[in-house]
Amino acid sequence: MKSAYDLLVVGGGPGGAIAARTAAEKGLSVCLVEKRPAIGAPVRCAEGIGKEALAEFVEPEPCWISAEMGRAELVAPNGTSLILESNIAGSKVGYVLDRKVFDRYLVAQAADAGSDVMVKTRAVAPLIKDGAVHGAILEQYGKRTPVEADVVIAADGIESKFSRWCGIDTSVPAKEMMSCAQYLMTGLDIDGHTTVFYFGNKIAPEGYVWIFPKGDGTANVGVGISGKKSGNGHRAIDYLDRFVNSHLPGGKIIELVVGGVPVCKPLPCSVSDGLMIIGDAARVVDPLTGGGIYNAMFTGRLAALTTVKAISMGNVSKQVLMEYDRGWRDAKLGKDLTRNLRFKEYFISLPDKQLNTLAESAATINLENFSTLTLIQELMKRNPTIVAGLAKLKLSIV
Ligand SMILES: Cc1cc2nc3c(=O)[nH]c(=O)nc-3n(C[C@H](O)[C@H](O)[C@H](O)COP(=O)(O)OP(=O)(O)OC[C@H]3O[C@@H](n4cnc5c(N)ncnc54)[C@H](O)[C@@H]3O)c2cc1C
Repeated sequence: MKSAYDLLVVGGGPGGAIAARTAAEKGLSVCLVEKRPAIGAPVRCAEGIGKEALAEFVEPEPCWISAEMGRAELVAPNGTSLILESNIAGSKVGYVLDRKVFDRYLVAQAADAGSDVMVKTRAVAPLIKDGAVHGAILEQYGKRTPVEADVVIAADGIESKFSRWCGIDTSVPAKEMMSCAQYLMTGLDIDGHTTVFYFGNKIAPEGYVWIFPKGDGTANVGVGISGKKSGNGHRAIDYLDRFVNSHLPGGKIIELVVGGVPVCKPLPCSVSDGLMIIGDAARVVDPLTGGGIYNAMFTGRLAALTTVKAISMGNVSKQVLMEYDRGWRDAKLGKDLTRNLRFKEYFISLPDKQLNTLAESAATINLENFSTLTLIQELMKRNPTIVAGLAKLKLSIV
């Protein structure tokens, strides 16, 4: 590790890895630090990602693809099931990754491109020079070392502490934090190419249960519920245990992960002088699905390209780095985040009875020639009273 770099990336998840790889490929001196001893472990993710989304960043490699998904099944509270083939399911079908291998692969690409990588190395405080972020104090095996950098990219995930230390409020209200628990299960009798989602206020209040197959009868089986619904006997793990006992009694649990997903608005501003914030740390997770791998990689690449430009101009002020903030907000990603937050607010307000009615109505539609949009429009036509709230969103859907 050198004492100064062009770019310091804090966090070795998919966002940090793509940022480090992109900047190193463009010739910057880059250091990526990860507080855990191993990149990618433990996994706190259901590991699903759309094929097209992934292809924007990396060629698919069999070593980190656990399974390929061809369709999605949505199950309403009363058991009504809706099968969505890939033409309509969009990003809900694609790959189920092996993130232990995937994250490591991306960081290895960053290293191959010339980035230094330090594991078991934690950023513990920012270095501030003339009011601007100018590196960080790094701690490895109890020893603290200051490392200077023209720009720091905070890719430190859900905790998002680095930006907080720089004076940016990254707190998430409990009601906008999805509390999740997930088992890796084996011995399951499931369709290995279908992702399954269960909805309902009894099964997962303001959230859902997922089954993401990983091949050979194994799957990530998880539940996400609104943080405000969590309590004694009603934690995500309690809902998960109830689901597994009733729906997958023959399966064996071989791993447990718990974690949070910020399903809130993105940070009002994702930059300051010398600092850019990406991925979960910037709260750019899709509030409807909880998916954040793509969004982390997208913002990571954009932040790296902005760093390259700012350094070539010799100006890493907030004013120049704002190009990154405007860039992701104006992109499809930013617009999707705004729209999906409104969708989420609408869907979590629906009682189970109305979810059942919508599912029963959709089940009678021949979905072959439908897209997500035309399906929603058809449901609006058939259920005008239930979807009155959704109708208000029509402009943003189209
Ligand atoms: C249960 C669950 C299921 C999910 N399922 C999906 C899914 O199916 N599909 C999907 O797209 N998304 C899913 N997500 C969300 C997805 O995991 C995240 O959006 C994604 O990992 C964000 O990437 P990131 O690079 O921003 O952050 P992370 O992947 O969280 O990486 C941040 C890294 O920073 C490190 N770090 C933190 N602080 C420091 C520090 N001070 N110094 C050094 N290193 C530090 C952490 O150890 C971590 O490795 C799920 C999340 C959960 C919790």
